[in-house]
Amino acid sequence: MWIPAGRSWWRGRGLAPWASGSVRTGLPRSRPAPTAAAAAESRAPHRPYGSAELKEKPDMSRFPVEDIRNFSIIAHVDHGKSTLADRLLELTGTIDKTKNNKQVLDKLQVERERGITVKAQTASLFYSFGGKQYLLNLIDTPGHVDFSYEVSRSLSACQGVLLVVDANEGIQAQTVANFFLAFEAQLSVIPIINKIDLKNADPERVEKQIEKVFDIPSEECIKISAKLGTNVESVLQAVIERIPPPNVHRNNPLKALVFDSTFDQYRGVIANVALFDGMVSKGDKIVSAHTLKTYDVNEVGILVPNEQPTHKLYAGQVGYLIAGMKDVTEAQIGDTLYLHKHPVEPLPGFKSAKPMVFAGMYPIDQSEYNNLKSAIEKLTLNDSSVTVHRDSSLALGAGWRLGFLGLLHMEVFNQRLEQEYNASVILTTPTVPYKAALSSAKLIKDYREKEITIINPAQFPDKSKVTEYLEPVVLGTIITPDEYSGKIMGLCQTRRAVQKNMTFIDQNRVMLKYLFPLNEIVVDFYDSLKTVSSGYASFDYEDAGYQTAELVKMDILLNGNIIEELTTVVHKDKAYSVGKTICERLKDSLPRQLFEIAIQASIGSKIIARETVKAYRKNVLAKCYGGDISRKMKLLKRQAEGKRKLRKIGNIEVPKDAFIKVLKAQPNK
Ligand code: GDP
Ligand code: MG
Repeated sequence: MWIPAGRSWWRGRGLAPWASGSVRTGLPRSRPAPTAAAAAESRAPHRPYGSAELKEKPDMSRFPVEDIRNFSIIAHVDHGKSTLADRLLELTGTIDKTKNNKQVLDKLQVERERGITVKAQTASLFYSFGGKQYLLNLIDTPGHVDFSYEVSRSLSACQGVLLVVDANEGIQAQTVANFFLAFEAQLSVIPIINKIDLKNADPERVEKQIEKVFDIPSEECIKISAKLGTNVESVLQAVIERIPPPNVHRNNPLKALVFDSTFDQYRGVIANVALFDGMVSKGDKIVSAHTLKTYDVNEVGILVPNEQPTHKLYAGQVGYLIAGMKDVTEAQIGDTLYLHKHPVEPLPGFKSAKPMVFAGMYPIDQSEYNNLKSAIEKLTLNDSSVTVHRDSSLALGAGWRLGFLGLLHMEVFNQRLEQEYNASVILTTPTVPYKAALSSAKLIKDYREKEITIINPAQFPDKSKVTEYLEPVVLGTIITPDEYSGKIMGLCQTRRAVQKNMTFIDQNRVMLKYLFPLNEIVVDFYDSLKTVSSGYASFDYEDAGYQTAELVKMDILLNGNIIEELTTVVHKDKAYSVGKTICERLKDSLPRQLFEIAIQASIGSKIIARETVKAYRKNVLAKCYGGDISRKMKLLKRQAEGKRKLRKIGNIEVPKDAFIKVLKAQPNK
């Protein structure tokens, strides 16, 4: 059975806000071209609505709706979104121009370390053009598929996008995915070909791809180097000329969309808002359409890119608002805020993000449970796309089962827990949300009464109680140079994928569409794809419902004791090879001990794979003869520290990272 689903419903689009009825095109709408005088003025040195005035609470009433442009930068990972944002911030005097401005909107430590954007960031820019000063609200977005929920939410506050494409790499899988998010939200798309300074840049080829795949005439492409700043000024002018102002009314009562939120320990929830109608200022009484709770507005302002309080925010503007909300449930993303006693029809909001992988999370030591609990609570306030259920396990104690948008999302969450909250955890094997139709259920007119979703392998129901198991599937897009397509098709076949489509986007680049079982791609497909294509292929996917599958639960045992964090659900045909590889990997990551260790993979009572770790014990102190006390102390200390990272399974001491090593390279072949 295969249940098709609408395009990317899990991505939470569902809102074509402020849609001014415009269809996607980069061309100017019926607005007149700037006059010669205006053009001359625009060439004059730009005097930003200066930093001095900004510091004195900028007067937002200076910006009527027709002088506002709200736009996002979207692109495949590494095509230069954040670098372009840096140049736009500099050019408009929002930040000082220095050599050190590198992805300034990537504020999180994990973003800076990994060089990726995981959280959308807003910045208001002031820009003079044609004798007028404009207010431009820019939202920089992440490119990775796991974070496309961030992209779709950001788009709800925009009327247009800059679609950035690398002049060397051309259109990639996430370029296509992000383009369609913007297209479906009916936003104007301005194609930007970036990195024209690169030796191998071929902007003409990329122009042709854009014409072929997105049906945008090549003369609409703007060729720039974000790194060097070449031609970036014309991007700002295109924003003004090609993106329409928001279609909103200042005289209507307040209607504000909460499109993002962050949590500050001292000030509570800071809501990012887009004003669809009306205005809001400090001291206003506002109501949440979601909870009907009333709040006093303590502060409103804009992001430049840090918070800058203002007297008011007006319809069409994008900024932040603090109103004493203390809890994530109070600041629901997608909520509509309105003035007390002036209720409005709420905006449609967002569909909630759909988790694609689940994993158990436990404190290494149960005494750390409360600390970890509060760390997870705080972090989820800043990342509402993580779902949290309380969970417990015999071996691991009390913990949680968390749902993530993908594996990168899970890794980033884990890294943020460690870096921002100093919490260290045990993570179990990630699993996708399987379903089972229970045989005790009655079939009432095709409607299966008892279909359960299994997000924890420990709760996998026995075959005797089930009529069928179902697994989630996704529609994957792969873009690759033609020469690798043979190998890639081979790889897809080993992942139980079914080819749906194949098109050439230029003479030697092909776009492949495959239907994949989600569990086949969630962990390491991307790495394998990069390997078989020498790094040239890119990949993106969207939800495509469920299909029936023959699934089994597989346990991994150490000397007969089940390792709960490694229990998985696998496809029957793959159980043997997956079990064998896990045992082999585990053998490599377990230190020898005083006795022999048997590593086994089992399905029910049947052992399907086995490896052995021979007995041996390394005693670090044995070598430590003589009087070197300080060295001895150091070693003792290190050994004690090491112990804290050990977990006991039966009488076997297992280093905490042993399982993570096994999981990281999760075999799936
Ligand atoms: P993002 O993932 O789309 O936000 O991309 P980034 O802005 O983080 O840029 C990815 C990499 O490309 C960084 O190393 C940038 O320095 C580099 N880059 C961005 N724009 C240009 C450009 O115009 N020319 C060159 N040569 N490199 C660029
Ligand atoms: Mg970025």
